[in-house]
Amino acid sequence: MSNNTIVGLKEKERRRRRVNRLKKTIIGLISFWMLFSLTAIIILTVSLCSSNKRVNKIAEKINSSGDAAEDVVPAEDGTDNPDDYIDDDNPDDSTENFEIEDPEQPNPNDNVDPDAKKVYLTFDDGPSENTEKILDILKEYNVKATFFVIGRTDEYSKSLYKRIVDEGHTIALHSYTHRYSLIYKSLDNYKDDLQRISDLVYDATGVRSKFIRFPGGSSNKVSHVSMRDIIRYVTEEGYVYFDWNAINGDATGKTYTVDELVDNVFKDCGKYDTNVVLMHDAESKTSTVEALPKILDKLIEDGYLILPIDDNTTPVQHIKVSTVVNN
Ligand SMILES: [Zn+2]
Repeated sequence: MSNNTIVGLKEKERRRRRVNRLKKTIIGLISFWMLFSLTAIIILTVSLCSSNKRVNKIAEKINSSGDAAEDVVPAEDGTDNPDDYIDDDNPDDSTENFEIEDPEQPNPNDNVDPDAKKVYLTFDDGPSENTEKILDILKEYNVKATFFVIGRTDEYSKSLYKRIVDEGHTIALHSYTHRYSLIYKSLDNYKDDLQRISDLVYDATGVRSKFIRFPGGSSNKVSHVSMRDIIRYVTEEGYVYFDWNAINGDATGKTYTVDELVDNVFKDCGKYDTNVVLMHDAESKTSTVEALPKILDKLIEDGYLILPIDDNTTPVQHIKVSTVVNN
């Protein structure tokens, strides 16, 4: 083999190696670029998904805040509860807060047929410490009721009148003294008593209630004054009186267990389209408080509309006003 041939072969071999190196470099670069692109795509996809979730959560929260805001009862001075709002100046109030807040209990009436039977839970003879417990339970269930109150002038009681109103319940008038012998001694005595409780509630809450419940009901047998005269008077004054058509039995003189109190309510509740349940929130009625969650659970399960008395409520009356005023 000549020298020239040997040089030629070596040169070919070098060229082949150079081409191989170049090929390897190109393949390496392409592999690196593909791997880099794939990683970038994965990272972007993951971050896009988590952003979407976050946006959805914020949107849900904003929607539910809007619903809750409609339920806020303005305070007497026209301002709403400051707890319902987020302070824009506070850097801690970031969107993160949306995820840690407790959502408000949905109103059970939202899932009920608007033509369903109506139930009005009514509490007489408060306020007392039991009123506070009952208000807590009603708040937990997000349902409204009606309180037929008696006269209490201490600050705690006045704060409860106010809380009843502030939390969207109906405050209604029962009696100032609740002493039957005094109230029903004469028509003037009845009028004075009613005016006193009306003024006390108005001073404490700013509400001039027109809903009343006679002590012992319109069918009571203790009044020395004709109940028809009293009915005529209150109707002329613009009041609407409510009796009841279901009871838990907490004022019948018998001591019932919690389960019996619940059963008593459902003996009659449901017989009518409008059911007014009589209960008591006086100091001694602790079992009424204990029975309330069970009563609410069953009412919700049975699909009742649970409502506070208002202008649209059909009055339940033992002596019907139409039999007195029109005759
Ligand atoms: Zn009473």
